[in-house]
Order: sequence, then C-alpha cells, then structure tokens
Amino acid sequence: THYKIQTIESCISRVISLLDSEITRLGHQIGFKDEGHGVCMFMDQDKMLQLLLNLVKNALEAMPEQGTVYIHLYLQNNNAVIEVTDTGKGIPESELDQIFIPFYTTKESGTGLGLSICHKIVQDHEGTIEVESVPNMGTKFTITLPTATAAE
Ligand code: ADP
Ligand code: MG
Repeated sequence: THYKIQTIESCISRVISLLDSEITRLGHQIGFKDEGHGVCMFMDQDKMLQLLLNLVKNALEAMPEQGTVYIHLYLQNNNAVIEVTDTGKGIPESELDQIFIPFYTTKESGTGLGLSICHKIVQDHEGTIEVESVPNMGTKFTITLPTATAAE
C-alpha cells in the first residue's frame, strides 16, 4: 500500500495551494485554522488529498455568490478532527441521509460519486465523516481520524 506517516497540515496546505487560484478567480475565500500543528497520521496521501479536494470542490459548487470555505484542524482526545465549512446553499434535512450514496447528485452534470469516495477513504483510514447543514446558511463536514506519532 501507499500508507505513510505524514502531517495532516501538509495535506491540507497542499489542497489549498492546488485550489487557491481557482478560489480567487471565483471570488471566494479559503481559510485554514491550524490547531493540529505537527500532528501526524498514517495515511495514503493521494487518497487524503482526494478526500479534501472533493469536499472543497463541493463547497465551491454550493456557493453561487461570494463565499468562504473554512478548514479547521484540531485535536480531540487521540483523534484529529478536520472540519470543512462553507457558506453555501446548504443541504435540506431530508437529503442529508442520501448524499453519501453512490450516484446521488442534485447537479445537472454531477456524478454523485464524490462523497461516496470520501466515505470510503475515511473508512479506509479508520475514521468517520459527518455532516451538518443549514439551508441557505452553509454546510459543515467533520472528519475524525486516528492520529499516529512519528515514532510508531
Ligand atoms: P456531485 O458533486 O457529483 O453531485 P457528491 O457525491 O460530491 O456528487 O455530492 C452529492 C450531493 O451532495 C451533491 O449533488 C449536493 O446535492 C450535495 N452536497 C455535497 N456537498 C455539498 C455542500 N458542501 N453544500 C451543499 N450540498 C452539498
Ligand atoms: Mg462532488
């Protein structure tokens, strides 16, 4: 496999630098609050990048007007928590239990695969992914992942 010990913040920074110019072009903003400085986990870096890219892309697609994507990394017990919050259109409560199902999409040219892939990637890393949303206010995805120490 491609699993290695890596800092989580390096992964998040990579995603931000990959999307930064597109975010600026769209008139949006992205923020990162790093309260997990130096925190490592055993990860497949390509998969973790794909997970975060999918979430940030969904966030951008949910914000027709100027909006903000905010990533917050912090520790809770022995887990790392990554929150990805947007100020987009939100998800109706009745749809919340469907969004992780493969091929579920509300977009004209969506594949509906992004979040099912995210779910799989999180499971492969022995974590969890949860969603909270308020229509017309925004959406927050919370990913909880076990951490590792560099000595492990
Ligand atoms: P796709 O992006 O191709 O539609 P996804 O699996 O990534 O497929 O997302 C499934 C659906 O979940 C989307 O079509 C959308 O309705 C909803 N969704 C996902 N992320 C967000 C978000 N950040 N804000 C609002 N709706 C979202
Ligand atoms: Mg998507």
